[in-house]
Amino acid sequence: MSQQPHLGIDLGTTNSLVAVFEHGAPRLIRNAHRAVLTPSVVGLLESGEVLVGEPARHLALTAPERVCAAFKRWMGTDRSVQLAGRSFSAIELSSLVLASLKRDAEADLGRSVTKAVVTVPAYFNQLQRAATVRAGELAGLTVERIINEPTAAALTYGFHRREQNQRLVVFDLGGGTFDVTVLEIFEGVLEIKGAAGESRLGGEDFTETLVSDALARTGRTLELAELREPLLVARLRAEAELAKRALSEARTSSVRIPDAQGRVGPDSPTLEFDAARFEALAQPLLERLRRPSLRALADARLAPAQIDEVILVGGATRMPIVQALAAQLFSRAPRHEVHPDEAVALGAAIQAALVADDQAVSDMVMTDVCPHTLGVEITKEFGSRHVEGYFMPVIHRNTTIPVSREESVFTRHDGQTTVSVHVFQGESRLVSENLALGKLIVDGLPPLPRGLEIILRFTYDLNGLLEVEAIVPKTGQRYATVIKQSGAQPTKEQLQAALAKMQALKLYPREKLENQRLLAFATAALRELDAERRAELERTLDLYEHWLNQNDAAAFAYARGALIEVLESFGLSYREEPQ
Ligand code: AMP
Repeated sequence: MSQQPHLGIDLGTTNSLVAVFEHGAPRLIRNAHRAVLTPSVVGLLESGEVLVGEPARHLALTAPERVCAAFKRWMGTDRSVQLAGRSFSAIELSSLVLASLKRDAEADLGRSVTKAVVTVPAYFNQLQRAATVRAGELAGLTVERIINEPTAAALTYGFHRREQNQRLVVFDLGGGTFDVTVLEIFEGVLEIKGAAGESRLGGEDFTETLVSDALARTGRTLELAELREPLLVARLRAEAELAKRALSEARTSSVRIPDAQGRVGPDSPTLEFDAARFEALAQPLLERLRRPSLRALADARLAPAQIDEVILVGGATRMPIVQALAAQLFSRAPRHEVHPDEAVALGAAIQAALVADDQAVSDMVMTDVCPHTLGVEITKEFGSRHVEGYFMPVIHRNTTIPVSREESVFTRHDGQTTVSVHVFQGESRLVSENLALGKLIVDGLPPLPRGLEIILRFTYDLNGLLEVEAIVPKTGQRYATVIKQSGAQPTKEQLQAALAKMQALKLYPREKLENQRLLAFATAALRELDAERRAELERTLDLYEHWLNQNDAAAFAYARGALIEVLESFGLSYREEPQ
């Protein structure tokens, strides 16, 4: 059998993409809607079927309680969400998006696909990375490599400019995450020199400032409005998103305030937003972009003047206020050299080709860094006083990976036979301010006087996963653990159960997506019509929806034709997507 296709997946907060590396270059794959962007949104229909992407996003307008978006923000946490009475974790929701992309790739390539390289924000921690690998497993994919999004974007850039020598900054602001990466390209070698970022900061926060401000200007608070008028808030978010994008092109834009049912029309109250107001609202967010940018430069031991180019990646870098900040920080005009939405997935496909030793990339090498400091809890001695809770780094942030480092610790009491090694990630000197990753128990030590040496060896692999070993030189004993999940790792049975749950979900058939699109189109059109025409469309729409869920092809075809006809008679022509 021929080699598996080299797939790369950008599992984004807002949108996801899949690309394949073939015939010496990466190429994006289109989904069932002929689009390369699949919204990272999952919806559950009343029939129990799962919708992913564009149709799920449409469903959010009419039934927000059946839809979940932006779940990437809680990867690696225990949080779950209820959709139509069923509970889903971020891993499970992500697996549904991955499964949908896998099916799109299979439809395009005409063969089954089981392996992929998946990207994560550079600032994703151990738990978030492990959660991403698990989401892949649940989707039936072996995640061959996890790579950092900005590294992937840089790879796309470097792939086309392998022969140049340059120092670059990749400034990546997506829907929910921010990453800044400093790298050097030298004779085909791409070396990541520093990375920093924030895992909860992105374009959606800029939209939220408009939502909050619009609500405040109409005498509401976001918290209360979300409880009391969820349909209004859901629609307002969509309106604010449009206004934010419009402000990327023009000096002013406006937001229509929906009614409590989430409807907008010609009579809806309208609020104006101009660039200055938006900039003032976004000031705290811009400040949060500044700090990691300076840290990444400092870690790379470079001054802004030594940077040759600043590349903008991620949809939210289209905002002029973000571009102005990047220009000011690095003292040069940034470039949109690579398509901001597409660079990450294309880079993941290039990485997949590198993993598979594809001939077309044999002249390329890439090195990445570990974006966080990793270490253990220690006790400090102050005279006769022992104070617990201090952090001892073993691998410092921005060390080139893969890397293996050792540090020694010593038993504190005479006859001590166990030591528990608590592993943390973070930059604070106190473990309470860092993230707990896991624990390794070293037991069965010989009961010797205090001061018995234990060597801790940390090995950080290319996927950003950490192995911790403890070696007792006196006895030759060795203990090891791979840090994947804090506390309990899922057992084989738990994994099987999660797989069974995902497989039991019925995915909405790809061939029926077009019908769902028509439903969304007509539902959206309904909001804009006057009473009389609205009543007529509603009747036809009810009929259509009824037959959509029945098993009568002839009746459904009739209802579908009638719906399109009514829409056309109102001057709303519905165009089917080319298949
Ligand atoms: P990504 O995750 O890279 O696809 O980025 C998605 C984010 O980019 C979302 O927050 C979008 O609102 C934002 N975005 C996309 N296009 C624009 C635009 N023209 N102006 C401002 N923000 C945009």
